[in-house]
Amino acid sequence: MFKKLFAATTLSALMIAPQALGEDAHAGMPFGAKALEIYKTAVEMKSTKNHGETPKLARYLAAEFEKGGFPASDIHVAEVAGTAVLIVRYRGDGLSGKRPISISAHMDVVEAKAEDWVRDPFTLIQEDGYFFGRGTADDKLGMTSVTVNFLRLKAEGWVPNRDLIIAFSGDEETGMRSTRTLVNEFRELTDSEFVLNADAGGATVTLDGSTPASFRMQAAEKTYASWEITVTNPGGHSSRPRDDNAIYELAEALINIRNHKFPVRYNDLTRTFFRGTGAKTSGDLGKAMARFAADPTDEWAVKTLRADPSFVGTTGTTCVATQLRGGHAQNALPQSAAATINCRIFPGIGLAEIKTTLERVIGNKDVTFKSVYDSTATDPSPLRADVLAALQKAVDNKFPDLEIIPFMSSGGTDGKHFRAAGIPSYGVNGGYHRANDVNAHGLNERILVQTFYDNLAHWYVLLKAIAG
Ligand SMILES: [Zn+2]
Repeated sequence: MFKKLFAATTLSALMIAPQALGEDAHAGMPFGAKALEIYKTAVEMKSTKNHGETPKLARYLAAEFEKGGFPASDIHVAEVAGTAVLIVRYRGDGLSGKRPISISAHMDVVEAKAEDWVRDPFTLIQEDGYFFGRGTADDKLGMTSVTVNFLRLKAEGWVPNRDLIIAFSGDEETGMRSTRTLVNEFRELTDSEFVLNADAGGATVTLDGSTPASFRMQAAEKTYASWEITVTNPGGHSSRPRDDNAIYELAEALINIRNHKFPVRYNDLTRTFFRGTGAKTSGDLGKAMARFAADPTDEWAVKTLRADPSFVGTTGTTCVATQLRGGHAQNALPQSAAATINCRIFPGIGLAEIKTTLERVIGNKDVTFKSVYDSTATDPSPLRADVLAALQKAVDNKFPDLEIIPFMSSGGTDGKHFRAAGIPSYGVNGGYHRANDVNAHGLNERILVQTFYDNLAHWYVLLKAIAG
């Protein structure tokens, strides 16, 4: 994902002066100005693990809810795990007789180094039809939209037929300890029939604005796991090299991991996803999806899908080296060398099985393993007619009759902690992005200005449909 979006030459050729925020056709939409104010404030608060401004953001949002007419007794900010959670209950009239629905998003963002970015990551900049800034997509887009629609619906006097509960986490991008707190310690505040997650879902739009292939609703996710693998060695003077060397042994282990392909896996959800998406995707990729859906043992289909970073993770478990450390001096033989291996494990496969596979693939008993992430494995959430119907209304608002296709995230979201606690979760954000535009976690994160306003309208329709 760490890809420079513009080469220096392209940039100077483009050199478009930044626009004033809100200088566009959407400024007049109900609560459009309020939405922009909250979005700008949120993006400009450094809610990263190191900067630690997530509690400040939670308190700011809480104050907005109070100003918006939500009773203080229904707004809860709690500082947990060095960050914060925010819970807000929108009381319904109970006429549906149904249990509450939780709405999940996260307030924290991935770290951003200003010196690496073209623009300051913690200033919301509107330029060339985009909003730039850390979190513009992930997930201050979803967080803002849910917040503003609570405020708008309240101001309009709307009363849902069941309670709606905002459950915003504060460390989704790092430990997800706050998410577990939301689900477990604050269960009496967040207990609900299911979760709508504003941190997943959406469609890929084209430059000409034509109808996308499908809307993707997240209904499952892979298990996130990380191991640190280490080789140690007595070391010595570098003028006296020996055959045994911690860095070389680690390098061999890493090459073996690179060369290993995990077996093909599939479930009903991924096959349905490939069948639906394949029918609407042109070229070899579309053909490969259709063939995989029909026969997951089709070698050409597997090879073609696995050559595409967007789909390799949907065909099985992946493990990749992400961090590296080793040696202590220029002129010393290394006493240790270590690497982080990050795996995204297909639902239904245990962590132990993946670790055993990695040990076998490495084939060196001197390489030690240490788990560096507390993993949570979950099953797919069962598809629900009520969620699909409400979501279809919201999707139709932008792209009439666009087909909704459930999918499995290769990345992880808060949804897994709700699923693990027995609360199904559905990623339903109206994230309409151009391919390769979002750059979530990477440099120069941006979203289309149009998408920001589309997502506001999306949640407005969705909330009214699911609880109206
Ligand atoms: Zn996110």
